[in-house]
Amino acid sequence: MSNEFDRKIWLNGNIISVCDAKINVLSPTCQFGANVFEGIRCYWNDNHKQLYAFKLKEHYKRLRNSIKMMRFEEKYTVNQMEEGLIEIVKANDYKEDIAVRQTVYLDGFGSWNSFGPIGMCINPIPKKRSYDEGKKGIHCCISSWERINDASLSPRIKVGANYINSRLAQLEAMRNGYDSSILLNNYGKVSEAPGSCIFIVRDRQLITPPITASILESITRATIIEIAEKEFNLKVSEREVERTELYIADEIFLCGTAMEIVSVLSVDKLEINQGNPGITTTKLRNKYFEIVRGTNRRYINWLTPIY
Ligand code: PMP
Repeated sequence: MSNEFDRKIWLNGNIISVCDAKINVLSPTCQFGANVFEGIRCYWNDNHKQLYAFKLKEHYKRLRNSIKMMRFEEKYTVNQMEEGLIEIVKANDYKEDIAVRQTVYLDGFGSWNSFGPIGMCINPIPKKRSYDEGKKGIHCCISSWERINDASLSPRIKVGANYINSRLAQLEAMRNGYDSSILLNNYGKVSEAPGSCIFIVRDRQLITPPITASILESITRATIIEIAEKEFNLKVSEREVERTELYIADEIFLCGTAMEIVSVLSVDKLEINQGNPGITTTKLRNKYFEIVRGTNRRYINWLTPIY
């Protein structure tokens, strides 16, 4: 199963080898990034001998909202989307942590202004932590690029084309020796990072930019807000965050399905918590890992068993 060319993917109702999955090079998805997608994680629980998909319902709700905002023709029901995911993960017989990319795309010979035909592709792939376990966290800069906004290209739509903004920010950061970057929005307030949302801790209070700060409505962000309040009785505030608040925060972390929870150890070369992951970040991260793998029974209804 380790050879990536042996993998099977789901394409428009067929289960085929990843090498045989072909799409039209002239389609608007190829030409303009006219596709909406979800990245969904499934975690293997060896005691339960079960693979759990995390928060499927929320992912399909967001995918349907992206389809709506893009004015794509509606082709697949939530049930069909979920059945496709389960079918293709089973077909690969994965018994390890995986990430599933589920993409609904604009096919055919139309242009960026067409409505259909619509295709769907579901691609599961083994996935470990995004940053290796030995690493304490990451170093970020503030991007010179501004985050896209709702008046031009909404970050609320999880559309492929949006990721060019993330690409510019990420590549700039890496060119300058950082691991990643944090983008400000068109009001100069903290928005999010390429592919993840941001939380800061100040005086034992958890703070995150609101969903109107040019961010993707992140499922991990909502999860963290809920577990911070329920499990740790932490006060969570969704409010505007300023750049200099990052410099003086007690703790900072990024979160997302792929990223999970990762400590930010410095911003613009100013150390956070003397360059160490903070207590609050660490306890939220540990709790998150318990929940997604199904070892914490309290949140078992967030998980969909695959087998
Ligand atoms: N912001 C952006 C731009 C993203 O691409 C992602 C990853 N999907 C996130 C935030 C985090 O969202 P989620 O927690 O739903 O994965």
